[in-house]
Amino acid sequence: MKQFLREIPKVELHAHLNGSLNIESIKQLAEELYGEQTKEFAALCKRFIKFEEGAKMNDCFEKFGFVHELTATKRGLQRATELVIRDFAADNVIYVELRTTPKSNEKMSRRDYLQTVIDAIKSASKQYKIMVKLLPSINRGEPLAVAEETVALAVEFAQTEPDLIVGIDFSGNPNLGKFSDFTAVLSLARNNGLQLAVHCGEVDNPREIQEMLKFGMSRCGHGTYLTEADYAQLKEKNIPIECCLTSNVKSGTVANFNDHHFRQLMAADVPRVICTDDCGVFDTTLSDEFHWAMESFGLSRSQCVDLTVEAMKHSFATPQEKRIMQLLITERAK
Ligand SMILES: [Zn+2]
Repeated sequence: MKQFLREIPKVELHAHLNGSLNIESIKQLAEELYGEQTKEFAALCKRFIKFEEGAKMNDCFEKFGFVHELTATKRGLQRATELVIRDFAADNVIYVELRTTPKSNEKMSRRDYLQTVIDAIKSASKQYKIMVKLLPSINRGEPLAVAEETVALAVEFAQTEPDLIVGIDFSGNPNLGKFSDFTAVLSLARNNGLQLAVHCGEVDNPREIQEMLKFGMSRCGHGTYLTEADYAQLKEKNIPIECCLTSNVKSGTVANFNDHHFRQLMAADVPRVICTDDCGVFDTTLSDEFHWAMESFGLSRSQCVDLTVEAMKHSFATPQEKRIMQLLITERAK
C-alpha cells in the first residue's frame, strides 16, 4: 500500500518552506554551509541528536529555530529551497505550493529573501521536474508594517512572475495578533489578483473564525475548531479545508488520527485536501499522510486518487497546468 501511495502523483497545497526540510536535508545543508570538519558543524550535530531522540513537541519547535538559522543567508536559503523541492519530488509530488515569510536580517532584505527563493524555485523545479508555486506569508505575530511590506513585494513580484507568485498565506501563532488588523492588507492582495490561503480555526476562537469566514478566502488552513454550520458555509462556497493530520496530532490540536475532523469533512462531503504543513518538523511525507488517512478512515485507493484530483482542482495552478496534472494522475491511476 505504501508503494501505491508513493507512486501516485500527488499535489501538495499546504507546505511551509522552513518546516518542510527533513532531517537528512538539514544535515546536508549544515554540512554544505559549514563543512563537515568544522567546530560549527560539530556543535550543530549535537543539536540534531537532541531533537532526534526525544521527538517531543518542544524539539519540533527547536527544529524551526534551527532551520531559520541555516536559512539566514542567501546561500543557505537558496539551498534549503532546492532541497525541499527535491524532497517533495522524491515523494512523487508533481505540484507544490510553498509558503514562507520573507525575513530580513543584516545580510538580506525581505526583497532579497523573496528573490532568492524565486531563483531557487526556478532552477529546482526544472531540475526535479515538479511544478512549484510560492505564497509569501504574513506572520500574524509580526507588526502590520511587515505584512504591508510583504504584500507590496508579493504584488510587485507577481507582475513579473505571475505563474509563480500566486497568493498570500496568513499564518503564524494563532494566539498572537488580531485578524481584523490585517484585513486591509489582505484585501489589497486580493484586489491585486492574489489568492488567499488563511490559517483559520487552529484554536477555539469563534469570533475570529466568523470574521475570517465573512472576509472570505480561497482555501482554509486546518479548520480544526470550525462548527458544522461553518463547514456547510465552506461547502456552499466550494472552499476546501487543508487537512494536516500528523501536524495537528503532533502539535496537540487534535487528540489522535481517529478524532481528526477529516472524518466529518468526508462524511459531510465538505471540500478537503490532504497536506503536510511542516513535513520536516513533524517527520512525515505526503505519502505518509495518505497512509494515515487510509488507516484511520478506511479510504480506498480510488478515494486517495480522488483526493489528489480534488487537490489539483483547488490548487492555484493555471488551467494548462491543471490539465497536465489531471493527465499524470489518471495515467497512473489506470
Ligand atoms: Zn500551516
